[in-house]
Amino acid sequence: MNSLQLSGIGMTSQRTRQRLVERLKEKGISNDSVLSIMASTPRHIFVDEAISHRAYEDTALPIGMGQTISQPFIVARMSELLYQTGPMDNVLEIGTGSGYQTLILAQMFKQVFSIERVGPLQKVAQKRIRNLKVFNVQYRHGDGFKGWPDKAPFDAIIVTAAPESVPEQLVEQLAEGGRMVIPVGTQHGEQDLILLHKEDGELKKMNLEKVKFVPLLGGTID
Ligand code: SAM
Repeated sequence: MNSLQLSGIGMTSQRTRQRLVERLKEKGISNDSVLSIMASTPRHIFVDEAISHRAYEDTALPIGMGQTISQPFIVARMSELLYQTGPMDNVLEIGTGSGYQTLILAQMFKQVFSIERVGPLQKVAQKRIRNLKVFNVQYRHGDGFKGWPDKAPFDAIIVTAAPESVPEQLVEQLAEGGRMVIPVGTQHGEQDLILLHKEDGELKKMNLEKVKFVPLLGGTID
């Protein structure tokens, strides 16, 4: 686990973050590494100052361009699903968004590759993460449906927007022993959170809880 340099992050936010972590535990998050990363990772710097007082509520919040920063519970849940005893060298993230989940991943994996289709969102996220002196993230402004073939295979893949079915190109880019967590379903209904595990060349699939994500859309916005 890489530790964050948290200079300038105030005591008030540390206390409110700790309360958030207590709520996450009550809701069933049990991985100590994930809980400890969530306890030290500032969320308030990933939203507009006008709503930063709500940053440690367990809720999704708007980040502009019609997108949201994911609910802390879902960030913690997806992160613990990716935790594994095998190698955690690289992870592919589809949907950089605010960059909050990206920063959590940067503390779990040696290298993060993060793709976002909305250019302006990714630029802001990248700047926020660099300001924290976190440099093990590579960014690509592009269409996540295609993955990042020249950096594959990945020990883990996390998709933070929902396609109607699992993109085959992402499955191909998952390493042997690797895990993918992805919400799958229609735009207007509930979606299933799915965990895929590639073992001995076979893909094992587990349907987990119902979730609600923005849709995974093709193409890019500059
Ligand atoms: N984990 C992010 C966070 O907490 O800020 C979640 C952001 S939001 C729920 C999902 C993101 O996926 C949005 O920023 C959206 O633009 C992006 N997205 C949607 N379709 C995409 C695609 N095909 N490729 C890459 N990013 C995509």
